[in-house]
Amino acid sequence: ADQAGELGKEWQLYDDEIDRQLDWRLSLASELNEALAAGDIWVAYQPKMAIASGQVTAAEALVRWQHPQRGAILPDAFIPALEASGRILDLTLFVLGRAVADAASWAAAGTPINVAVNVSALLATDVKFLTAVRAMVADGSIDPSLLTLEVTESATMADPQRAITALEQLAALGIGLSIDDYGTGQSTLTYLKRLPAKEIKIDKSFVLGLADNRSDQVMVRSTIELAHELGYKVVAEGVETQSILDVLTAAGCDYAQGWHIGRPIRASDFEMKFCARLAA
Ligand code: C2E
Ligand code: CA
Ligand code: CA
Ligand code: CA
Repeated sequence: ADQAGELGKEWQLYDDEIDRQLDWRLSLASELNEALAAGDIWVAYQPKMAIASGQVTAAEALVRWQHPQRGAILPDAFIPALEASGRILDLTLFVLGRAVADAASWAAAGTPINVAVNVSALLATDVKFLTAVRAMVADGSIDPSLLTLEVTESATMADPQRAITALEQLAALGIGLSIDDYGTGQSTLTYLKRLPAKEIKIDKSFVLGLADNRSDQVMVRSTIELAHELGYKVVAEGVETQSILDVLTAAGCDYAQGWHIGRPIRASDFEMKFCARLAA
């Protein structure tokens, strides 16, 4: 009886902890509109460098939430909450709107940068998302040649046929598609070949140790080789050092993204640091 009592107490604590986390998440989702209006949510850009030329020709848009009480909240903490509460479409359309506006202004200044926006698994096959994107292309607010959508490989696995159909419609608009976090799911490149993507991104878990981990080197080299045979460009993320970049260069990787190239920064800083260099 004593033991059961102890166990009961533990469960009570566990329940309270879950309740607190749920409350926290729910309140975050309900704060979305306010946070957007206040400018607490903003978009950072991280450069993608074309390895052959050494030039930054693309960037990934990464959302940031600077909360007035909680401080900086990481996307891994609030994206799932927004997904669970049905607010992820609004957030994604905000990021997309900023990203295409920044890309348009950089292109107008003579330095075209292709911007990549992350699309949650839930949205990749959502008709509302497709409809909104199609409308933005139609009214000229999206230049599809400057936009890439990053979709995780696992997002397409739940219902492959549905994913193929949805992604084909986005690709038909002229938007680039990229398979994110490659290597973390159970899919093969031959399966992914059925998706209309142009690019795969090797997950940073295979890249961070690339300078000294033999099995990561084998994985990355063979992925790049097969991806090229299938007609993909390859991006490696998590490029933190020159020695990692050297391994990727030798392996024929197309693009590098990571702290060694540049951290995610504000649009104005990105413009000064990377667009100016491209123009020079
Ligand atoms: P992801 O798409 O895999 O993004 C790459 C993450 O790796 C980013 O973290 C980036 O800051 C980090 N990173 C970049 N270079 C390096 C490096 O050299 N070393 C290390 N250790 N890390 C590096 P972040 O910004 O915290 O984003 C986390 C995840 O949140 C993203 O993973 C993405 O799945 C999601 N996310 C970010 N922005 C959005 C968004 O606007 N919409 C949606 N749906 N998801 C987003
Ligand atoms: Ca991504
Ligand atoms: Ca990734
Ligand atoms: Ca990731």
